[in-house]
Amino acid sequence: MSLRPLLVLGTGNRKKGMELADLFQPVGLEVRTLADCPQAIQVAETGDTFAANAALKAVEQARHLGRWVLAEDSGLMVDALGGAPGVWSARFSGPEATDETNNRLLLERLRDIPLDQRTARYVCHMTLSDPSGVIRAESEDYCRGRILHTQHGAHGFGYDPLFEVVEYHKTFGQLGPVVKTILSHRARAARNLLPALVELVDAGEWEAA
Ligand code: IMP
Repeated sequence: MSLRPLLVLGTGNRKKGMELADLFQPVGLEVRTLADCPQAIQVAETGDTFAANAALKAVEQARHLGRWVLAEDSGLMVDALGGAPGVWSARFSGPEATDETNNRLLLERLRDIPLDQRTARYVCHMTLSDPSGVIRAESEDYCRGRILHTQHGAHGFGYDPLFEVVEYHKTFGQLGPVVKTILSHRARAARNLLPALVELVDAGEWEAA
């Protein structure tokens, strides 16, 4: 059994889980995803903001598992679409949506929009709940870019092959995990949250796993 404090990442998305595990690995916590917790529940994302959904996923899962849970809700907001798909990013093209169908629908919706008006941002809200369901830290940040006319690169997930990072003139699909760990909305939100997380661990509030 590990003696390091245990942090459960409240996501079932394997690629998101890997990104989060990389971001929180320096704190010295033992990090597990919901895939490692057979007793985890499926939390319905019924909120209409990233913050509301992140809170639901952190608090309900933490209470259920009796563990510290860090959850995040994230998505893509496209200016020309009035901020859509937003909190609906995962299910943009319907209940059976895949990354492929979502990307196709996004391109269709933006068909007549020229490149300079295809600005967008990824947003990530992160929430840390203690085992009793009390929110102990949260943060939100974003990453600006624009939506290209065709997909480029095979790294990442979701809208990454279409999302061009302004600073690099390349998509997250082309840039790969190292750059994403520095620049992404998730990386930025994680860095904002880290001091509070370290403080809680150092204060001995955390149970040993
Ligand atoms: P969630 O699980 O409700 O937070 O869904 C987030 C959805 O937003 C994902 O399924 C993707 O469609 C999109 N998304 C969030 N973060 C990223 C990212 O880093 N790259 C690509 N798509 C993302």
